[in-house]
Amino acid sequence: MKPTNESILVFKFGGASVKSAAAIDNVIDILKLYADRKIVVVVSAMGKTTNQLESLFDAALNQEKDLFISRKEALHAFHIEIVKALFSDDVYETIKNKINLVFDEIIDFYNEKSDKSRGQRYDSFVSFGEHLSSMILQFKIRQDLNKSLWSDARKLIKTDDQFQRANVDWPKSIALIKNHCQEELDLNRIIVTQGFISSNALEETTTLGREGSDYSAGIFAHALDAESVTIWKDVPGMLNADPKFFENTQKLDRISFREAIELSYYGASVIHPKTLKPLQNKQIPLYVKSFMNPKDEGTTIDVDTSNDHMIPSFIFKKNQVLFSITPKDFSFLIEANLSDIFLKLSKAKAEINIMQNSALSFSFLVDHNASKINSIIEQLSPSYEVKYNTDLELVTVRHYDQKTNEFVCKGKKILLHQRTRRTARFVLGS
Ligand code: ASP
Repeated sequence: MKPTNESILVFKFGGASVKSAAAIDNVIDILKLYADRKIVVVVSAMGKTTNQLESLFDAALNQEKDLFISRKEALHAFHIEIVKALFSDDVYETIKNKINLVFDEIIDFYNEKSDKSRGQRYDSFVSFGEHLSSMILQFKIRQDLNKSLWSDARKLIKTDDQFQRANVDWPKSIALIKNHCQEELDLNRIIVTQGFISSNALEETTTLGREGSDYSAGIFAHALDAESVTIWKDVPGMLNADPKFFENTQKLDRISFREAIELSYYGASVIHPKTLKPLQNKQIPLYVKSFMNPKDEGTTIDVDTSNDHMIPSFIFKKNQVLFSITPKDFSFLIEANLSDIFLKLSKAKAEINIMQNSALSFSFLVDHNASKINSIIEQLSPSYEVKYNTDLELVTVRHYDQKTNEFVCKGKKILLHQRTRRTARFVLGS
């Protein structure tokens, strides 16, 4: 067991926790509660910046100049307004100049002619969001707490070339993170770094997938053998259902890594599904806590499985498309056909949320994404009759009982359902 004062805490602050000057002040208050600890802060882009960068990116690729300019100006003004409220005049001038330089790069992107792939250009472009937020937060920490270091996550998390969903090179990343952070933390500096972004062997920016900042926090914690990771959220912890759809949600006080992986895999959006493995492998607990009430307990995710079955959890995935395919030559869906189907689905980069087969038909559910639907049809239609239904929802109930199943399906048409001992899943239409 490491002595507590030597142990490292990894804090992940998401977009909502840094979406305004008041929110950033609140982050400082949270850090003050952990004044004598060694802390690595992993921060996301502010508010909805990544979505806004995505739409700017599209406007640039489509060369829609007016749209690009108006969106860029709105995003620029959003960041400037925050720093104006946060800093005294002289510091404000310095940081404003730095922000302006980032927005100059954003403008350059509009005019740039590039033969790089769309994915590669996307990763470089959306990384501006985390660049800005981490820079602003680090300035603020330096001003108010007087000890911090801005660290470029791209120099620490190394990946392959799979842009937009890069795979981590663990040995390299662990060595780089340890080497860089340990020494700085020993000097009692709070390290401020970016979630979501990384780089390949050629130092080109890659990203770990949307909402990937949680995963970055997991990578840092794993590499540093941290004491714990805390994800600071706008909810009191991990809930048994999304409060957007449910009135009477309950907080899960303590669940196991395994349960949390299942819940996030099925679509519970509180934690990025990849976050848990690096933590589980080193048995590093994960706390999900409210940034509004930082002293409250939140949810603890660790090795303890004893509370996993306490309450049913509901996970809703909207906007689903259910495909049903039948071999044109009426051959059975035996192994050869199944492997052919999977090969074609993987060529179409389809991500399957649920699947089921009978003698002649294979059904599978995917998120609605127009271009993926087209590639799925393109791949499968030469050999299979392809039918599909849109506008469906997938409901997963962990630790179900008859009453909860009836409740979620009430008034809906069940197009497909599956049950295991712990999990019931329904594909529902209206
Ligand atoms: N900013 C990125 C996104 O919105 C990563 C993250 O917030 O986790 O997807």
